[in-house]
Amino acid sequence: MSDALSNTKTATKIDALVVGAGVAGLYQLYQLRNMGLTVKALDTASNVGGTWYWNRYPGAKFDSEAYIYQYLFDEALYKNWSWSSRFPGQPEIERWMNYVADSLDLRKDILFKTTVISAHFDETTQRWLVETLAGQRFDVQYFVACGGMLSAPLENLFPGQDSFKGRLFHTARWPNEVIDFKGKRVGVIGIGATGIQVIQTIASEVDQLKVFIRTPQYVNPMANPSYGPAEVDAYKARFEELKATLPHTFSGFEYDFVHGPWKKMSVERRQEILEENWQHGALKMWLATCPEMFMDEEVSEEISEFVRQKMRDRLKDPHLCELLIPTDYGFGTHRVPLEHHYLEVYHRPNVEAISVRGNPITEIVPEGIKTADGTVYALDYVILATGFDAGSGALTRIDIRGREGRSLKEEWRKDIRTSLGLMIHGYPNLFTTGAPLAPSAALCNMTTCLQQQTEWIAECISNTRAKGVKVIEPGETFQNDWVEHHDGLANATLVVKTHSWYMGSNVEGKPRRLLSYIGGVGQYRQKCSEVTASNYAGFVLR
Ligand code: NAP
Repeated sequence: MSDALSNTKTATKIDALVVGAGVAGLYQLYQLRNMGLTVKALDTASNVGGTWYWNRYPGAKFDSEAYIYQYLFDEALYKNWSWSSRFPGQPEIERWMNYVADSLDLRKDILFKTTVISAHFDETTQRWLVETLAGQRFDVQYFVACGGMLSAPLENLFPGQDSFKGRLFHTARWPNEVIDFKGKRVGVIGIGATGIQVIQTIASEVDQLKVFIRTPQYVNPMANPSYGPAEVDAYKARFEELKATLPHTFSGFEYDFVHGPWKKMSVERRQEILEENWQHGALKMWLATCPEMFMDEEVSEEISEFVRQKMRDRLKDPHLCELLIPTDYGFGTHRVPLEHHYLEVYHRPNVEAISVRGNPITEIVPEGIKTADGTVYALDYVILATGFDAGSGALTRIDIRGREGRSLKEEWRKDIRTSLGLMIHGYPNLFTTGAPLAPSAALCNMTTCLQQQTEWIAECISNTRAKGVKVIEPGETFQNDWVEHHDGLANATLVVKTHSWYMGSNVEGKPRRLLSYIGGVGQYRQKCSEVTASNYAGFVLR
């Protein structure tokens, strides 16, 4: 008898186990339960929310419009919640996630403060044995990982972190308490979307702010009007329209590429479009200007220069321009952060921008941050806005073993491969959301993509059960074809030439591959639907 099998004696036997109680996990739990399955969701957190539970750092907010970052499967759920602004902050978003959990009566099936540490497929039973940090065991037919694509923070980056005499925070593990910045010397490492939100929020509160900048970042100003009853009524009246539109656009947002070939338009018209999209104050500039931005060096340069000039106009100081304005990659080939008076922060007398590009941070010392030239920046608080092991980290931090004992962590150390980002060859009945090689890994309004993925998974489970199929697994050829298709699209873009979490290059030793499918949300959906319609051609069903 295998170890796994003997362990099942003490395991709770249910049909499905969902990891995560965030946007995907909540809806997945709801769907599987409605199908009549016995199902539990497990989450390390003490409450629902996923990303919106963990990322409670100062200034955390949406950068998808609130009225599209929504569940659209239930009109009442959509309409019974009203947002206070176009891009609300984390506290409001967390309240909304709680509203969703309560409205759908999900809590009774969620185990909080419960971390999954391993999941082993037992070939004798054809089921998964899942174990938690506290030693609970679950014997399940379906293991559904909804652990998030940006949920494995890069926390231990610098030698000496433990020696720091002040307080050290990672933005994605921000404590649930009010942090008083008054009179404090604060260092922020990182100017991704997170760092920017933190910096622009705390700059006026702290005594001194030192921002450690390695790679400059294009930024796009956010227009964030408050919503009163009239605005709320107006967006709610668009429910059907949004439901029909969002799943089929390039990025799952309400806007899309509509202008025709970029180079065929006059220079004046192109400038008009850029200015219009810029003034829109959202991600439209990035996700709806033109697809050539991602492919064509000349177009990329034209648009990048437009953005650089906007940044120069605000920064003015040539030294700041040199530090903060990118010149060696194109606008949109990294994730574009939205900001609010962020660049102006650097004009404040209490804020200093420190380049660590040629002079890297070498360690954290008891007094603060030390750079290669030996300078020590004395600090009371260090804030790591250093990002995540994106897409794959949530899965590889669990000891997942598939058929013949293969280890996902070991396999993905060499090459990250999935089938539609929904399943993985060698791991039967393991379903994934927000995983690599799907748009939900980065290039999507998350709720649009996570609803589609969880619905695909629920339908797959329902369809196979109806046929008496116990196990489904993508065949090797199917997976190879999907990876080839994904890579073909990715390699035609400029994104693959860049360094960022999009390419996995922010994590040492992680294999380089564009994490997110770049064929568009609409096309991805169609491909998933074709698999369902073909009765899972290319998959092994038994
Ligand atoms: P990120 O984009 O990966 O940025 C990490 C930052 O830390 C980069 O500036 C990076 O510099 C810097 N860094 C990492 N290691 C460093 C080191 N050793 N020395 C100096 N700098 C270092 O992470 P993030 O800002 O947390 O954002 C991740 C994603 O989360 C975003 O792209 C977005 O998709 C999502 N997000 C969304 C929102 C929202 O508004 N909804 C808000 C925040 C985040 P390099 O670039 O040089 O590596």
